[in-house]
Amino acid sequence: MSAISQQTIDHRGPDFAAVGLKALNGLKTIFKTEEHVFIYPASGTGAWEAALVNTLSPGDRVLMFETGHFATLWKKLAEKLGIKAEFIEGDWQGGADPDQIEAYLAKDTSHEIKAVCVVHNETSTGSVSPIAAVRKAIDSAKHPALFMVDTISGLASLDYQHDAWGVDVTVSGSQKGLMLPPGLSFNAASAKALNANKTAKLQRSYWDWAEMLGPNQTGYFPYTPATNLLYGLNEAIDMLHEEGLDNVFARHARHGAAARAAVRHWGLEVLCATQGQESGVLTAVKMPDGHSADAFRASTLEHFDISLGNGLSKVADKVFRIGHLGDFNDLMLVATLAGVEMGLKKADVPHEEGGVQAAMQMLA
Ligand code: PLP
Repeated sequence: MSAISQQTIDHRGPDFAAVGLKALNGLKTIFKTEEHVFIYPASGTGAWEAALVNTLSPGDRVLMFETGHFATLWKKLAEKLGIKAEFIEGDWQGGADPDQIEAYLAKDTSHEIKAVCVVHNETSTGSVSPIAAVRKAIDSAKHPALFMVDTISGLASLDYQHDAWGVDVTVSGSQKGLMLPPGLSFNAASAKALNANKTAKLQRSYWDWAEMLGPNQTGYFPYTPATNLLYGLNEAIDMLHEEGLDNVFARHARHGAAARAAVRHWGLEVLCATQGQESGVLTAVKMPDGHSADAFRASTLEHFDISLGNGLSKVADKVFRIGHLGDFNDLMLVATLAGVEMGLKKADVPHEEGGVQAAMQMLA
């Protein structure tokens, strides 16, 4: 926040180059890529659109996996752009299934499918998709489709490797693991994706990578960048490296495990039912039958000033979500879980007391 509150400088003046270059180069260390990372002054939805319009043409077929609400929104966005988006249906209780993706692609012998789009950390369910395994599935099917991944809520909290995992376009945003306010979003693009940009026929202007590449070489942007958020981004990247990315990932994994220990002790169910795919970013909890998750959330907000995430679309009012991402430590987690446990009691939701203790035992 103090980095962001610095004086806004002229984004076309000589001092800006250092800010822009630091951000553009620093992001590569977070996405784990040698490729270009584009920065937009937009929320994540903008970067979703940018990934598609920069690489695809009207009527192109795209394969998506229904991991949850955000995968569904990305599909709807694609359809509005004139893309034929096809879903492999999911039960919202796990990540994308590489075997189903491989089987689907193997049937597309004429290679009409131009891209496979997967959400890495599905924020609506707290499930993580195995991105490296999806890459392998695409390769096993010998399919040339571009591979696009939304890691808006996974980046800088869960391990992510744009280059090593062979991702063509990675989409992310500022407001989750990067610990910034909303307002920046990103596309990391492989050489194959940049090549696709040259022939992609979807209409684009604001999002066009081609307009960005030139000015970015010297640290500038074709239009007004979110200068103060870039100050914050540079500080956030430094903070992540000071802690060490592996330590950041381990901290999130540990907090996820402790949160799940509490939930299970309460006798409640974690929405992600696929072992090994539970998220370290957030934990979505199923509300017992006959109880409204939204009424519970409203009650905990009123009584304990704790804001729990809501269930989205298919799971609206059926789940609540405990966030444990970003600048978050053991005491913050314990306080959060205490708020939930006191909330369960206050709202007369049947549960076994002592979930916080179970989490503390794990943390200690
Ligand atoms: N994808 C995922 C996984 C998200 O969590 C979000 C937002 O929370 C989005 C996409 C949409 O991003 P935004 O709300 O920043 O436009």
